[in-house]
Amino acid sequence: MSYSQPEVRELSSGYKFEHPQSEITIRLDRQGRWLSYRCGASFYRRCMGGDVVCGKGEIPLHRSDKVLLVGKIATTLDQWSQSWKGCKRVKSVLQTASGLDFNYYNHQAALYRAVYPEGVPILPPDRYGDLVVQPVTGCPNRACTFCAFYKDKPYKMLPSDRFAQHLLGVQTLLGGQCLIKDGLFIGSANAMALSQRRLMAYLQQIHSCFDPFKRGIAAFADPDFSAPRNTAQWQELANAGVTRLVIGLETGWGALRGRLGKSADLTRVCRAVHDYKRAGISVGITVLAGASEPGYQQENVQRTAAFIKALGLERKDIVYLSPLESANVDRSLRVQELRLMKKHLSICSDAQIVPYQMQRFRYYC
Ligand code: SF4
Repeated sequence: MSYSQPEVRELSSGYKFEHPQSEITIRLDRQGRWLSYRCGASFYRRCMGGDVVCGKGEIPLHRSDKVLLVGKIATTLDQWSQSWKGCKRVKSVLQTASGLDFNYYNHQAALYRAVYPEGVPILPPDRYGDLVVQPVTGCPNRACTFCAFYKDKPYKMLPSDRFAQHLLGVQTLLGGQCLIKDGLFIGSANAMALSQRRLMAYLQQIHSCFDPFKRGIAAFADPDFSAPRNTAQWQELANAGVTRLVIGLETGWGALRGRLGKSADLTRVCRAVHDYKRAGISVGITVLAGASEPGYQQENVQRTAAFIKALGLERKDIVYLSPLESANVDRSLRVQELRLMKKHLSICSDAQIVPYQMQRFRYYC
């Protein structure tokens, strides 16, 4: 059987091959590893942890389906490589890519687990493409009733020599992909719990490994479990490249927040936002939709909107609106609260209001 040549486009992440006759499109990174595969209406993506997901990525493929898919991709790439008449560099990428079998991708997944023992459980939606480094893992709070990611993960930090190994592992795992990342995210649930001295030392290690990131460095921050910092220290973090900190507010109604497992006193959140902004660090605020009891939606929305209004957020700040996925929350009430929240927040704040489907998060290659 003869195969016509696919069209190729060079991307910052590697190459995109499109073959209209067979309706197959494959994206490869510069090392020839497949990133995504489309065949007709079916679209697959590879995740860093070894999962392969189809469509919106809710359910990963079973092992046997993964084996078949990787085999199919390798066969297609081999056919394209044999019929390739163009640029030698592209032919060589195709040849390399066609030799990467299921065992190779399994080995990559094992390397990921060694580099990220906690995995990468969640990132804010505008930072999904970030390079993630984890000088710390877990969460110092772990009391939130709704938390799906960190309840069983105690807060631990790496000594500097182990962090240096971690950074080397990240570079080995991602290879050339490190160079095209435009942002870096410091995991895990609350990097700001680190003392200033430790955090600055980690930032120095990061800067010695990577060039500056166009979108800077971001992290989750919980002001109720953060180390105390003065104005000069926040400025020091901003000067070291920190551009966004994301706080889990969940609700601006203190009593409800207390019932959810966070502090009912919002003073620290308020002070933290002002500290960050004074240093030039943008703010992200997560808000849950569906957290209030039936009959209290209006009150939750109004109190949350009033609290966020008082924060004086700007266009560069983001409010992430996250539906609370729980068996105890009535779906229609959640949808209703989500709509109300979106409407009120867009009126009372200049910040961007962005949907945040936490359950859909995948750390894609
Ligand atoms: S602070 Fe965040 S990460 Fe920690 S338990 Fe609460 S929701 Fe989970």
